[in-house]
Amino acid sequence: MIIRLKPGIKAGKLAALRRGLSGLLPGAGFSGGRGSIAVNTPAPELLGRRLAEIENLPGIASVELSLREACPLAVTAPPPELDALYGKGLRKNFILIAGPCAVEDEASYLAAAKKLKAAGAGALRAGLFKPRTSPYAFQGLGTKGFGIVKKAARATGLAAVIEATSEQQLSAIKNAGGIAQIGARNMRNYELLKAAARAGLPVLLKRAPGATLKEWLLSAEYLLKHGNGEVLLCERGDSFSRSGLRGLNLNILRAALNSTALPVIADPCHAAGDRALVPAQALAAVRAGADGLMIEAALDPGTALMDGRQTLSIPEFATLVKRIRKLL
Ligand code: PEP
Ligand code: MN
Repeated sequence: MIIRLKPGIKAGKLAALRRGLSGLLPGAGFSGGRGSIAVNTPAPELLGRRLAEIENLPGIASVELSLREACPLAVTAPPPELDALYGKGLRKNFILIAGPCAVEDEASYLAAAKKLKAAGAGALRAGLFKPRTSPYAFQGLGTKGFGIVKKAARATGLAAVIEATSEQQLSAIKNAGGIAQIGARNMRNYELLKAAARAGLPVLLKRAPGATLKEWLLSAEYLLKHGNGEVLLCERGDSFSRSGLRGLNLNILRAALNSTALPVIADPCHAAGDRALVPAQALAAVRAGADGLMIEAALDPGTALMDGRQTLSIPEFATLVKRIRKLL
């Protein structure tokens, strides 16, 4: 932890500040002292309790925590076993999740699921609870869609990734053998993160638009701290809107890959918002070292109730998988 001091701090004030720090962080070692003080890493619980008081000590300009100090579990957690999610026919383990944005009806979902499996998908997108910007937009089938998802999972042997927008949905997602997705809008919903951790099922955590690496890993830290080691991260770009900061943030994807052993995958569909851009962004993510992809793909994107513009057709998905195979 680095404590930056206000300029021109006098010796007497500095001594008082050091005494104040020693009182708040008993046993901690301090070094430096003119412009900044380095503190050896305190236990996260102690730091969590004392940080606000430390920041308030006279003479302190700012307090900076390293990633390791802020998210000790996320930076040291071993990679979870997620064999069930690996794409088929690839030389390397690579997570490949595919499916329509939302489950819409049984016939089209089952047909899509079988074709996606044949094309190489390792797991299915199975959105039932859709967090929509507009309350008038299709909200997903909700609880009544679980039967369809279970049928598709049985028919294909693939696990389903189902977004949870509230705590009440988690046990049903677990019963369906699913993986809970915490979407970009809920990355900072800390009560949902704690509940998802306690529910005891794998969790795919998307980065919120604009969130820093530290904020994203702190959300993963909630899952890990509350007992869930089966966490994967998903980069999905920096905007919800059609115009604006669209596109995968490959810099943050690489930074995440360099900071944690948890798998880091990419969702080029929500990042791009346009199917014409999806293959290029998907392949760029693979080249950047992503551990997997989540792709929106459906039987007929043209008639999808949501996100059709960014959804690949099944043949387009199959072509993309062939291109991924050449890289992996
Ligand atoms: C989704 O994957 O269905 C979704 C809503 O994405 P995001 O949370 O990244 O917007
Ligand atoms: Mn979508």
